[in-house]
Amino acid sequence: MSTMEPNHKEQAQLALLRGQIDDLDHQLVELLARRQKIVAEVVAFKKERQMSVYHPAREADMIDLRRHHGLKVGLDPDYLEEIFRGIMRYSRSTQTAEISRVGVKPGAKILLVGGGGAMGRLFTRWFTASGYEVRVLEVSDWERVAELCSGLDMALISVPIAETVSTVVRLAPYLPKDCILADLTSVKGPTVKAMLDNFPGPVLGFHPMFGPDTPTMERQIMVITPGRERPEDRWPAEQFAAWGGVVVRAEAAEHDEIMAIVQALRHFATFTFGRFLYQRKINLNRTLEFSSPIYRLELDMVGRLFAQDPELYSEIIFATPERLNLLRDYLESFKRNLEMLSDRDTGGESGRESFVAEFKRIAEWFGPFSDQAIRESGYLINKLIERF
Ligand code: NAD
Repeated sequence: MSTMEPNHKEQAQLALLRGQIDDLDHQLVELLARRQKIVAEVVAFKKERQMSVYHPAREADMIDLRRHHGLKVGLDPDYLEEIFRGIMRYSRSTQTAEISRVGVKPGAKILLVGGGGAMGRLFTRWFTASGYEVRVLEVSDWERVAELCSGLDMALISVPIAETVSTVVRLAPYLPKDCILADLTSVKGPTVKAMLDNFPGPVLGFHPMFGPDTPTMERQIMVITPGRERPEDRWPAEQFAAWGGVVVRAEAAEHDEIMAIVQALRHFATFTFGRFLYQRKINLNRTLEFSSPIYRLELDMVGRLFAQDPELYSEIIFATPERLNLLRDYLESFKRNLEMLSDRDTGGESGRESFVAEFKRIAEWFGPFSDQAIRESGYLINKLIERF
């Protein structure tokens, strides 16, 4: 098909329309600049009060509002969501860059016990960059423990889970009475109890929901389990918020219960799937050639697990006897699912019918989360399709 050159009148019409687009783009840029100025006011406000940059609920509400607005005016909500996520990401990163340099209690002395390890090195870097005096106590430094503890403001224990309680017992007698005793262990019940039992001063439990390779603290979650906290002991939490992180407070028991699902069950199920593929010597590359993006996403998660440190995962999965009981229950539920699929033991109902009925009950229970899940996984799948 040959294209026709527009005549003079049509050219004028086109120029008018293009002019209108230029005008609107100009206004969009002006509006973004005005938005950015207000963001700067928010930064100043938060900086003064040492508040978190990222508020997941506020961002989710904003996105929902923009999506609904888009629908009303005939714009694709996914298109709007992508634009606004980009705008929010930018303003968040400028806010974080501005706020994260600030030390909430610069000059305070922090001892990182196990500071030569992966998480220890991460926190050494961040505290040092914010003006804290960081000391490290490693396996071979115990003869200097008294010197390392003198004048301390916080001792942060970052040794392997199995070593944490004995390290608390060994360290506690050397700590100044107002020093905060804290830990980064992934299991909170036994460690917070050991700190409270062995040290009469302030106690805090931390669990970073991120690994040592994170390049940023922005939007990273830090769970804080209360121990023995005075108002003047809030600075570590405030520091994390100032770095752009999100602080979630939870009792140790609730934390451990949730972590059993989020970490132990999740990782164990992934391990089990990977092990099954291995035992059957499945040709992974060949399966990928046939694969739906969903399978690819799942296999990525399995491959990711086996690319990491087995010690870390064994520590998490086998951390407490309760976790083993949970995994046994999971196995039982697996077996019952299989029974449901065979026609036996279903009280006359065929296996497929009971599967469908159970599926519907579960779908109802998942409720509105299903919409969110479709949206989020759809986003990931599309990204995967774009790239691979
Ligand atoms: P790691 O093995 O890399 O580091 C542990 C460090 O502790 C090592 O440098 C080791 O030499 C030192 N250490 C061991 N026994 C010691 C002792 N008695 N005295 C002094 N130092 C001793 O482990 P990591 O991954 O950094 O994990 C540390 C803590 O952080 C663990 O409690 C873990 O549950 C928690 N955590 C880890 C991650 C993660 O992704 N790695 C995430 C969240 C929480």
